[in-house]
Amino acid sequence: APKTEKHGFQAEVSRLLHMMVHSVYSDREIFLRELISNASDACDKVRYEAQTNKALLEEDSDFAITVRADKVARTLSVSDNGIGMNRDDLMSHLGTIARSGTSAFMEQLSGDKKQDMNLIGQFGVGFYSVFMVADKVTVTSRRAGEEQAWSWVSDGLGEYEIAEAAKAGRGTDIVLHLKEDAGEFLEPHRLQTIIKTYSDHIAIPINLVTEGEEGETSEKVNEGTALWVRPKSEISEDQYKEFYHHVAHAFDEPWLTLHYRAEGMIEYTVLMFVPTQQPMDLFDPARRPRTKLYVKRVFITDDCEDLVPGYLRFMRGIVDSEDLPLNISREMLQNNPVMNKIRKAVTNKILSELEKKATKEPEAYAEFWQNFGPVLKEGIYEDFERRDQLLKLARFESTGAEGLTSLADYVSRMKEGQETIYYITGDSPQRVRRSPQLEGFKSKGIEVLLLSDPVDDFWLQMVPEFDGKKLQSVTRGSADLEDKNKEGDEAEAKPETPEMDALIGALKANLGEVVKDIRPSKRLTDSAVCLVADEGDMDMHLQKILQAHNK
Ligand code: ADP
Ligand code: MG
Repeated sequence: APKTEKHGFQAEVSRLLHMMVHSVYSDREIFLRELISNASDACDKVRYEAQTNKALLEEDSDFAITVRADKVARTLSVSDNGIGMNRDDLMSHLGTIARSGTSAFMEQLSGDKKQDMNLIGQFGVGFYSVFMVADKVTVTSRRAGEEQAWSWVSDGLGEYEIAEAAKAGRGTDIVLHLKEDAGEFLEPHRLQTIIKTYSDHIAIPINLVTEGEEGETSEKVNEGTALWVRPKSEISEDQYKEFYHHVAHAFDEPWLTLHYRAEGMIEYTVLMFVPTQQPMDLFDPARRPRTKLYVKRVFITDDCEDLVPGYLRFMRGIVDSEDLPLNISREMLQNNPVMNKIRKAVTNKILSELEKKATKEPEAYAEFWQNFGPVLKEGIYEDFERRDQLLKLARFESTGAEGLTSLADYVSRMKEGQETIYYITGDSPQRVRRSPQLEGFKSKGIEVLLLSDPVDDFWLQMVPEFDGKKLQSVTRGSADLEDKNKEGDEAEAKPETPEMDALIGALKANLGEVVKDIRPSKRLTDSAVCLVADEGDMDMHLQKILQAHNK
């Protein structure tokens, strides 16, 4: 008999599985969507690898996913002829959660079942969702190009077993031994409905095999063509949504769906989405974009830096190019002229769609901005070419308006004679709102933008003015509010009374080198003192950020 190795699940997986096994989740039918989604990804992967290694397909180039229900054995199986998994793959893919954002996700789990299942819905548990309906799962898999097949068996209770196995071709068979209360997943009609509902967009055929009166019957359930090549008029919102779930490994609604075909010098199809919720990896330092590249319906890569810029990394979906060669390697994609053109055009299209939303549906746009504004603002810093466009898209909190405001709105509210757009930066919206620096501005009725994203201090360095108006921090020396025509800038340097003179002298003697200067000011109305940066010196909040980084 083959040697069987026992392994424990990674701690995070055990916690997740515990929740799966004991779940009272109402949508447990989604396990089938997850298995079909994985099978489809696996076929995409081997199709791509076969571009440079034909032998991998071994005469078996008709991809298919087979779902088989066996009422006697009470098993449901999902099989594919995709890339397959070897021993190491099984251990790392079905024993750990490698996805980024996992630890952040785990920290958010509260122990409250309902709340946690909700979170899981957003995070997506993929393969592990099988344990909502099965008390034992067997995965038999053979990696394309390898001789040895392997089996992985688990009851989802903390351990899994791996052993050598026999399997004819490449790919993966997953057999679920259904729980007592999961018999519905053996009924052909039920299975058909589930597949139609969640997986109709899958681009390879899904065959449902069932036992009937006259023996076994097999029926193709889905349409089997890539969703993005179908005419828009024939795609329902639900189909878009399910495709989004599959392609993004996400579980929220798309906030915006962008589906179009570009024709002309270069031809490509775009089907992209803006999520409603922040993806878990949004603030990963790697800033990895997650859009997938296809060439003539063949998946090439989901690790493509050149498809959209880093500040659009929240976009999910695909670009399918007609012009790139099918056997293009991931390395060859870098600085490829076709890719550069696509990136440019797609970026412009996304920004112009966002602009449309901002004008037509400002409230929906405000929600988008709360989620993705901090990321989009990185573009103001790094995308010189589109700086003005991005500044127009930007929204801010402000002392002068409820909700969010644009720079143009601020300018339209500026007081007669006001030449400057004032802002304050800080760590949190609450903090900046309470800052004593704002007192004088408030009493004069001058609006100040309240900026509290870390990225704000960086893009502000690149943007000296908007619409001909200087942008200036209220923490800067000369951002004082005298009527400059009357008194001139020097007026504030002179202490007005002998008492003030004496006080400043005493403070200077006490503080010494710690401060550069002490000046009387009209910027305060309630507080006694505040710190300011000198004209030409760095903004105070930026100083703090940089100090924190240099430690
Ligand atoms: P995700 O699909 O989001 O990566 P899953 O939990 O659904 O997460 O799957 C985990 C990993 O297991 C996949 O990324 C893939 O590498 C592997 N995997 C799952 N099912 C299959 C399959 N049918 N064929 C090949 N690999 C698979
Ligand atoms: Mg998956």
